[in-house]
Amino acid sequence: MDLAAILQGIGADMAAAPDRGRVADYIPELAQVDPARFGIAVALADGRMLTAGDATVPFSIQSISKVFTLAIALGRLGDQLWARVGREPSGHAFNSILQLEYEKGIPRNPFINAGAIVVTDAILAGHAPREVLGELLTFIRTAAGDDDIHINQRVARSETETGHRNMALAHFLRAHGNLLNPPEKTLGTYFHQCAVDMTCTQLARAGRFLMAAPGMPHLVSPSRVRRINALMMTCGHYDASGDFAYRVGLPGKSGVGGGILAVAPGRASIAVWSPGLNDRGNSHLGSLAMERLARATGWSVFG
Ligand code: GLN
Repeated sequence: MDLAAILQGIGADMAAAPDRGRVADYIPELAQVDPARFGIAVALADGRMLTAGDATVPFSIQSISKVFTLAIALGRLGDQLWARVGREPSGHAFNSILQLEYEKGIPRNPFINAGAIVVTDAILAGHAPREVLGELLTFIRTAAGDDDIHINQRVARSETETGHRNMALAHFLRAHGNLLNPPEKTLGTYFHQCAVDMTCTQLARAGRFLMAAPGMPHLVSPSRVRRINALMMTCGHYDASGDFAYRVGLPGKSGVGGGILAVAPGRASIAVWSPGLNDRGNSHLGSLAMERLARATGWSVFG
């Protein structure tokens, strides 16, 4: 298998694709990003890194950060976390408030916004936002083996000024007793975690701990890796998680910055970025690229 040629082919086709989706504009700073960008990076179990396109251009990881905060929260609280957030796909948009009302403030899973806000609230317990964000950056930098990973303050500020839906979610959670910190404190931390900038290369490297392969960074136990991957598979693309599982067959997590992190257990960690989104808020070309790569390599958790 000539993986370099496969990636070059995908990169060339995606660069020329006429339908690129729509760049998220509800966070004004993200609306500035050039929709023509496309990058892909694959970190292999043997240590090689293969890339195509804009793989070294930083982008806003947004909801991909939820994978890292979940790993930290499980390390801190273990199974106690599941008293506050569920493990079921939501079937609703990433920022939906609907289920919170009839499920009494317990979000369906840690990857929809409501669930991720609870996860961030949980790791804040007894800590200042600065400490939690420092721990997050240390986790990501250690996973990636790269210290040049930072929070984009303009993106964080932009979302802080416009994040009314997330404010509504946080206040709703608080009204149900499922937010222990003041909403502004938890949200301030959440907006900053979403504003981490990374390149595809850095993100593919950071995802290696989810491959659970020999020689890869060992940041969480193998059984926890399997569980995080299970949640990425079932919930990582919100109400398009079933479609991603069907088309790609790998655990994946998307962000509204247009990034996707996917894991081929034991084989590869893959990051792709194209800022234009589909109607479910996932990268349009990123999903297509992942589908092409999975088909060409035969990587799938389904055999
Ligand atoms: N910061 C974004 C939000 O809360 C993250 C959403 C996403 O990437 N899907 O709306």
